[in-house]
Parts: sequence; structure tokens; C-alpha cells
Amino acid sequence: MAKQSINQELAKNRAPKSVAADSLSKQSTIVTLQNSIGNRAVQHLLVQRQENDEYADEAYGIMNSSMDPQLRLQLLVKAQNRRLAKQGVPPVGLGKVKDSKNLGEGDSKDWELDLNTSAMNTSTPAGRADVADTVGHEGEHLRQWYEMARLQAGLQRPKGPLNRIPDDVAGMATLNPILESNEQTYQVEQWYESVYGSGAQHREQVLGDTENRYEEYRALPEERDGWARGDEITGRFKELEDMAARPRKRRR
Ligand SMILES: [Zn+2]
Repeated sequence: MAKQSINQELAKNRAPKSVAADSLSKQSTIVTLQNSIGNRAVQHLLVQRQENDEYADEAYGIMNSSMDPQLRLQLLVKAQNRRLAKQGVPPVGLGKVKDSKNLGEGDSKDWELDLNTSAMNTSTPAGRADVADTVGHEGEHLRQWYEMARLQAGLQRPKGPLNRIPDDVAGMATLNPILESNEQTYQVEQWYESVYGSGAQHREQVLGDTENRYEEYRALPEERDGWARGDEITGRFKELEDMAARPRKRRR
């Protein structure tokens, strides 16, 4: 739905009476198209943002509760699954993280969020936000892998995650294939190119040396979007903390 249809739309307006009318007509067509495509893309992003904020609100309540760490982890994953369900992504399970230095990681092979229970014993606002942020970031990665599986199934890509995710998840992706490229699936194509396409070699090199190539790591399309979700969550936590602090200040 991107370049081709814009050109077709412009071609329709190519025979007006004067040069001035021609350029005017072209311009207004571009503006109209930009507006309609832009609005849909923007709307799509706004919905994603809102769903991520809803997760952050839930996560904030969970992280500020007195529940034991394991229960908090279970509820965080449940909250993340609510976000994923709104995006059509099958629910993920809760697993244990393999490397105890990690806060968490998305495990696409077992379709679960592997989280670090000891990291839940945090008592600082930044620590609480970090856990919720990690679940959001890694949850976004699992969503990406599901979307790439849908792309592989629909557009018949030779490579992809279909054989590397559980059968039931692959089955759902196959039943909901991505059949055309548009402004919403453009993001999926970017992830796909990075992980399985033209960017795959670069990605492997960068992931093998993240300490020295940190900026490049952050710029990988799938990481850029994972970090964006996480940053939104951390930002929302700060907002909620400020709101919680305000009435107390007034009482003084
Ligand atoms: Zn990541």
C-alpha cells in the first residue's frame, strides 16, 4: 500500500490544463495521501502506546504491592499477556532466567519470559521500573518473533522463526498470515530484514560484541522498538511516582 499506490494516484492526476494546475493538483494529492497514510500509521502507534501504558499502570500496582516476588512475577507476565492478546499474540509462559546476571530474557523456543526472581527483591523506584521495563522489552521481542512468523507464513519467506517456536504458536501464526505489505507491517519487514534478511550478518557481529558496539546494538530495528516499549514503561512509572508524591507535598 506504500509507494506503488502513491505513484498510481499521482499518475491519475497527470493531465490537467496548465503547469500550475498540474503541480497544484500533484501537491494536494500528496498532501491527501500523506494525511491518510500518516494518520493510519500514527493511529496504529497511538493504540500501541496506549496498550503499553495500560500494562505499565498494572505493572506499577504489582511492583508497589507487598506480594512475594514469585507472585509479582506471575502477575507481571499476566499483565504483559493482556497487552500481547490485544495485539493477537498467543500468551507467553513464565520461565527462569539462565544467566543470573540478566534481569530477564524472551525465550522464543519455549515461548516464555525467563525472569530473574532475585531481581524482584528491589526496594528502589528505579529497580521496580527496571523489572517492569524488562518484561515489556522482552515481551515486545516475543511479539516481534510472532509477527515475523506470520510474515514467513503469509509471504512464503524461505527463512524465519516458524520452525523455532512451539508448534501451537507456529500454528496460530500460520492461521493468521501476513498477506500484504502496508504501513503496519512495514515494521515487521524491518525486523525480518534485520534478523533473517540482509541485516542478519551485521546483527550477529553486533550481538557478538555489544560492549564495543552498543550504539549499533541499540539501532537494530528489533532492539530500537524493544527499548522504545521499555522506555515508555519507565517513563510511565516516573509519572505515576510523581503523581503519588504530589498530595503529600500539598499537606505540608
Ligand atoms: Zn532486546
